[in-house]
Amino acid sequence: MVGSRVVVVGAGISGLTAAYRLVVDHPELTVTVLEAGPRVGGALATSPLEGTGLEVDEGADAFLVRVPWAADLCAELGLGEELVAPSARRASLWLDGVLRPLPAPNVLGLPLDPSTVAPGILAAADLNRLAGAGHPDVSLGDGDLSVGAVVRACVGDAVHERLVDPLLGGVNAGRADDLSCTTMAPQLLAAARSGDGLLGSLRATQRSVDPAAPVFNAPRDGMERLVAALAGRLGARVRRNTPVVSLNRVPDGWAVGTADSGAVVADAVVVATPAHAAAALLAPVAPDGAGTLAEFVHASVVLATVAFRRADLVTPEDRSGFLVGRSEGLLMTACSFADRKWSHLDDGNHTVLRVSCGRVDDDRPADLDDRSLSEALLADLATTLDADARPSALRVSRWPRSLVQFPIGHAKRIAEVDRDLSDRAPGVVLAGAVRYGVGIPACIRSGTEAATAAATHRT
Ligand SMILES: Cc1cc2nc3c(=O)[nH]c(=O)nc-3n(C[C@H](O)[C@H](O)[C@H](O)COP(=O)(O)OP(=O)(O)OC[C@H]3O[C@@H](n4cnc5c(N)ncnc54)[C@H](O)[C@@H]3O)c2cc1C
Repeated sequence: MVGSRVVVVGAGISGLTAAYRLVVDHPELTVTVLEAGPRVGGALATSPLEGTGLEVDEGADAFLVRVPWAADLCAELGLGEELVAPSARRASLWLDGVLRPLPAPNVLGLPLDPSTVAPGILAAADLNRLAGAGHPDVSLGDGDLSVGAVVRACVGDAVHERLVDPLLGGVNAGRADDLSCTTMAPQLLAAARSGDGLLGSLRATQRSVDPAAPVFNAPRDGMERLVAALAGRLGARVRRNTPVVSLNRVPDGWAVGTADSGAVVADAVVVATPAHAAAALLAPVAPDGAGTLAEFVHASVVLATVAFRRADLVTPEDRSGFLVGRSEGLLMTACSFADRKWSHLDDGNHTVLRVSCGRVDDDRPADLDDRSLSEALLADLATTLDADARPSALRVSRWPRSLVQFPIGHAKRIAEVDRDLSDRAPGVVLAGAVRYGVGIPACIRSGTEAATAAATHRT
């Protein structure tokens, strides 16, 4: 008999997707979503920026459209017409105390044409190497490697440290020298191992890419629109303020214990929390898998949304923002020009910046209260953008232990977790950013696959 009750733990984008898929594709199932907090959406949250009349994302503000999952889900939810692409697409880099344009085209910061690298970023020898095919100078073997190992071997240390690490490390607040290339940048690993060399292969692929095609999309009203569309389909199946505190096997399935409203019994359970929370829940039922999950490191990040009167600060019209290398001595790691990127945030009166800080190896933001953190970031904005005026709005959004890191061999570790779950906790399925990556499409993929696994679990 196929079980008929499924509980989803966690109502971030991964859990909401899993629940939505279960409800739509398997209407015969009883689906319950248990969310610890008062709101759903996890790291997707759009809210008013006081004093501006603007609704601005506090966490993620866009998703990649060169992979299918997020765009497909939006289309299915009827949001296709509401999707917009950033108006400004070219980013810069704060390097050696100067803002410099990122080379274009680039793949994860890797320039495909050395003539587009702005002066001062690389030495002549590095540019010469970039003019070649990018064959590795050491054997890359056939296992997983760090992104840093691949890039350093093919195009040298400076390209890695001055371009790729600031960009890729910025994506999940990690160190590209420690990140699995198979998980974070599989296209780089495949290209580096191809007979054409890293750059030769990427250039060939790039020729088939329409340079005008958008790379990112977002709903016009912010990412919360996607959350609301999913939550709307789920209705009363979602129980907020219901932290799950235990998971136990019972004769008729799994008892999912909540902090103060008893247990919900289910035939299958999708655990869609961050890996550290999943590790705690799974420890009694799948100790090896839980142990593996507990080893994952999570970076804590803070996103400050800062609005200046347009009269006080104007950002370049064609720029989407800038990244900051780890050796620049600033607290900020990136600054996105939100009103340049998104026409719906361009009210003609405000310059809206989304300023990020915190990395896996930089916990300074956690040690600063909101006031000290704000002052430090304003000082960084004065340094980088000559933004000396007082802002008209400033909001601090903290995201503790939100961005999981993907060490070398990550895919094997997840396979081990899956094996332990299927051996010792059949019917319990892992979803979330820890599976395929922190990007929204990867999370949606994880939720979609978890729904299929949960629905087909046989009790
Ligand atoms: C500041 C920031 C900016 C980002 N920008 C982008 C971007 O622009 N584009 C992009 O693609 N990605 C971006 N990301 C990454 C992306 O937003 C996240 O990886 C993704 O939203 C994670 O979704 P999730 O559902 O897996 O986890 P989460 O969003 O963390 O949701 C997990 C949910 O589980 C709940 N939970 C935890 N423990 C329990 C428990 N015991 N019981 C019940 N519920 C529990 C939590 O309350 C939470 O609601 C960003 C992330 C951050 C933090």
